[in-house]
Amino acid sequence: MDKIAVAGTGYVGLVAGACFAEVGHQVTCVDIDENKVNTMKQGISPIYEDGLEELMQKNYAAGRIDYTTDYKSAYKDADAIFIGVGTPEQPDGSANLSYIATVARQIAESIEKDCLVVVKSTVPVGTNDKVEQFINDFLTNDVKVEVASNPEFLAQGSAVHDNLHADRVIIGTESKWAEELLKGIYAPFNLPIVSVNRRSAEMIKYASNDFLALKISYMNDIANLCELIGADVQDVARGMSFDERIGNKFLNAGIGYGGSCFPKDTKALENIATQNGYELKTVKAAIDINEDQKTKLYKKASKRLITFSGLKVAVLGLTFKPGTDDLREAPSLENVPLLLEQGADIYAYDPVGAENFAKVYPEGKNGRGSITYVSNIEHAIEDANVCFIFTEWGEVKAVTPKRYKELMRTPLVYDGRNIHDIKDMEKAEVEYYSVGRKPVT
Ligand code: NAD
Repeated sequence: MDKIAVAGTGYVGLVAGACFAEVGHQVTCVDIDENKVNTMKQGISPIYEDGLEELMQKNYAAGRIDYTTDYKSAYKDADAIFIGVGTPEQPDGSANLSYIATVARQIAESIEKDCLVVVKSTVPVGTNDKVEQFINDFLTNDVKVEVASNPEFLAQGSAVHDNLHADRVIIGTESKWAEELLKGIYAPFNLPIVSVNRRSAEMIKYASNDFLALKISYMNDIANLCELIGADVQDVARGMSFDERIGNKFLNAGIGYGGSCFPKDTKALENIATQNGYELKTVKAAIDINEDQKTKLYKKASKRLITFSGLKVAVLGLTFKPGTDDLREAPSLENVPLLLEQGADIYAYDPVGAENFAKVYPEGKNGRGSITYVSNIEHAIEDANVCFIFTEWGEVKAVTPKRYKELMRTPLVYDGRNIHDIKDMEKAEVEYYSVGRKPVT
């Protein structure tokens, strides 16, 4: 059992903390947000992730996890401090490292024994060299500190599962001591460990995320061409997927990727390349395609309708993907303001994301249009003139073509996630537009 502190209780930090406690470590999670800390002490997770609250409650009751804003007490005698604070995008695309720097400074002031600092946050290559130097520059006690890189690969919506059953754990260290300590912390998980140097570990994270983003943008690019030449992108993807070199994941065309990672990490790597005098053409293409893709269906609908003004517009799904309440970079955030500007009366349904969305677009009149949040999906569709599908929640997939036809004023559906069968829509007489497939008119 190691004594572990975790800085930051977002998707990465809190899930890591709960999972470390679950395998028997003694964990203290630190956050600057007092409300969050109080909520977590009551066994309530500030984020929605399947299975997380159960782990928090079980391990809190067993005395293996605690939450605090008092970083000094948490860091002073920790064997390892994991950093999971945000590294958001700056206007020039580079990563904002100010949260990392603050934690580094807090660690330097606090630690009273030798300690391994492990950066889980996604940071530009070379950052952890600087973090190590920075901590050593500000140390107040005579102790040894090293920094390791241990990038996180969880996907929101399945974060706990991804943590406990990760495909691999990447550890980037510069000494045997750091490598052995980190391997020991992960030993109870029984997962494949890939041990590399610190810079390679940092690069593995960006290279992996950007490859996945590229895969999505590639399929969207192919989808756009499929539409023009009369091919069906879903059949194309199915045909491709049997090739083991390609695999069957991330081949779904749609209205683009969102979330807190792919948009930011593609731009950050492009920025790193530019800083080093290199043009990363593949990643740049992935970014450009994604930007165009997000509003593709809105543009199609704008051509089809005279106006959105005074129309009831059903919006199904607000989060960037199912299984999470996270809205960061979600396509809904690009499309809803466009619809409101055009005077649409939006009826939005999302099983968990509506509350967060309402913080940005409060219920009622919004500019020329209005937005109403409904908890029953059929209330969104009922009497609607047009329907947009932005997130492939199970509840949204479960709406049958027949129900669109029966409930909508005009059965006109724009499906950004290709969840419905074209033949079924044809049969139900729903006018239907999706991505990379023939329209049903
Ligand atoms: P988040 O924004 O959800 O959480 C960050 C937390 O850190 C917040 O609760 C904030 O209050 C806290 N914080 C800020 N300053 C602090 C300080 N000085 N001390 C303690 N806590 C502090 O972030 P996230 O989505 O968990 O992402 C964290 C990092 O992990 C980012 O670099 C991200 O790129 C990376 N990452 C995220 C995911 C993901 O799916 N969200 C996956 C892999 C990697």
